[in-house]
Amino acid sequence: MGVEFLWGGRVTGLDSSGVRIDGMRHLFRWLVGADGRDSAVRKWARLNTRGGRHRRFGFRRHYLITPWTDMVEVYWGERCQMFVTPTGSEEVSVSLLTSDPQMRIDRALPHFPSLARRLHGAATLTTELGAVTAFERARAVVRGKIALVGDASGSVDGIAGLGLSLAFQQAIFLGEALARKDLEYYQAAHRRICKIPTRLNRVLLLMSESAWMRRKVLRLFAKSPGMFGALISLHTGQRAPEELKAGEVIDLGWRVLWA
Ligand SMILES: Cc1cc2nc3c(=O)[nH]c(=O)nc-3n(C[C@H](O)[C@H](O)[C@H](O)COP(=O)(O)OP(=O)(O)OC[C@H]3O[C@@H](n4cnc5c(N)ncnc54)[C@H](O)[C@@H]3O)c2cc1C
Repeated sequence: MGVEFLWGGRVTGLDSSGVRIDGMRHLFRWLVGADGRDSAVRKWARLNTRGGRHRRFGFRRHYLITPWTDMVEVYWGERCQMFVTPTGSEEVSVSLLTSDPQMRIDRALPHFPSLARRLHGAATLTTELGAVTAFERARAVVRGKIALVGDASGSVDGIAGLGLSLAFQQAIFLGEALARKDLEYYQAAHRRICKIPTRLNRVLLLMSESAWMRRKVLRLFAKSPGMFGALISLHTGQRAPEELKAGEVIDLGWRVLWA
């Protein structure tokens, strides 16, 4: 396809016609900022994210243990959640998301006794790594010949489990937009792609902060697995938001209140 990759190259400068990579200047017709949450391209193009970003901290470590389920398990606690993902025949990945900068996996485990019991005595395979996870949106994702994609264009909190999926969906539309030479097409698609995940992310963060709401929602889901399934289908894009009738949304609100 005539693509030249500059693996490991670092963009160190930008101006209206070119980028500087490891001291060499490269001209561009289009510039795609796919450089993550702290995107230099976004800052340079003044496509800053909206104020009020919601930041939390994420950690993960792998354990040598036979997975006890083929599902992803989500544990909800006070100001933190833990996720268990089977990642091999003898390996599980354990992640923590928290708003407490002091918390780490070992300090969080006592909040989740059933998980702590499962992991008790299991050797760790990796060291604990951490990163900031943020919920933030860019006002616009295109300007002139520049487009942002993935976390550079705004990110959802790790709790949504959607960051990669959004980036891939956006990339497909960005490819089409470049073929049409029409970045507004991408801007419109980006808004559409992010609308429902953004709303669901707000609800999930609200649940993480309110024990009252968390209890109500989880009680309702335990009573109505069908409803939980329907919301997961919406969350993962298997069900189109248009299919959700207004009556269903109001009914869901009432059911949460009465749960
Ligand atoms: C704690 C945590 C948990 C998460 N959990 C999930 C999950 O369960 N499921 C999910 O789908 N997503 C999850 N995410 C989100 C997911 O990791 C991101 O959405 C995804 O990595 C975004 O990809 P990206 O390519 O846009 O950005 P990044 O992965 O950040 O990649 C950007 C790249 O640009 C490079 N770069 C930056 N600046 C320069 C420069 N000047 N020159 C050259 N290169 C540069 C960086 O080195 C990096 O390689 C989680 C994120 C966090 C922090």
